[in-house]
Amino acid sequence: MNYHELKIKVPPPLREDLIRALYEKGCMGFIEEEDVLTAYFPDTFDIREATAELELLQRVFDHAGLKQRLLFSQAIIPGQDWNEAWKKGFTPLDIGDRFTILPPWEKKPVNRISLIIDPGMAFGTGHHETTRSCLLLMERHSPTIAKERFLDLGTGTGLLAIAASHLGFLHIMAVDTDPLAIEAARTNIMLNRISDIELREGSIEAAPGLFNCIAANIVSGVLIQFAPLIAGRLNSPGIAVFSGILAGQEDEVVAEATRCGLKLLETYPDGKWISLVLRR
Ligand code: SAH
Repeated sequence: MNYHELKIKVPPPLREDLIRALYEKGCMGFIEEEDVLTAYFPDTFDIREATAELELLQRVFDHAGLKQRLLFSQAIIPGQDWNEAWKKGFTPLDIGDRFTILPPWEKKPVNRISLIIDPGMAFGTGHHETTRSCLLLMERHSPTIAKERFLDLGTGTGLLAIAASHLGFLHIMAVDTDPLAIEAARTNIMLNRISDIELREGSIEAAPGLFNCIAANIVSGVLIQFAPLIAGRLNSPGIAVFSGILAGQEDEVVAEATRCGLKLLETYPDGKWISLVLRR
């Protein structure tokens, strides 16, 4: 059996409450170090739900004017041999008409666009439904817009930015509030030998100017909060690909995006996740 490992940098006064909350969510055990808490969950656990809540907590801190950063990272810990289990579980994956996601040791397929991801990094491997949906929707809708500037908002592994480069976007910015994500993205961009991606730690404010396409695979709450900013940063015509929305929450996101002047082009469900394509 594999385990999810969640490492959280947490200030000591908050630790006890966090441990209680994580236990209630099904955490199997902890390792406590000076300022880092490592929590382990069974592999059936939906780790995105936990990280979404941590992101929410960070926003509460921000809102209250607290400077505290809740840094966290996640990984899958195979029950048996790390490398072999990883390699077995991480096989090439075809997405859309052209993309294949693969680890560095696999042979690149001919006639497809290879997106190489180092699975040793602490972030998703692109096998998540929301990432797959974003790639597919980017491929489907990018022919309808100019391919000048692309923004990957919350880049994680850097996968969407790497894909945007292959789709022909000329200037690509990728931002993430998590410094560990920036590190992971830098490694993957290097592995893919791509030079036209500008990586910055931060959020939308770290990526000035207008974009022809903005991809944001975050969570509904952040998408709703950022909708006015994103709408204001899109060229006309321009498209936004939103993902990370749990089924049932899409109406709220669409309502806010529409209020901000965006028009819904496509709703794309995959499992319990919904992705949206919006046009300005
Ligand atoms: N784009 C990748 C990763 C999605 S995970 C993919 O599609 O697979 C979401 C990422 O958004 C995480 O790396 C997280 O650190 C980042 N994030 C969360 N809130 C953010 C915010 N307000 N601004 C920028 N990035 C954010």
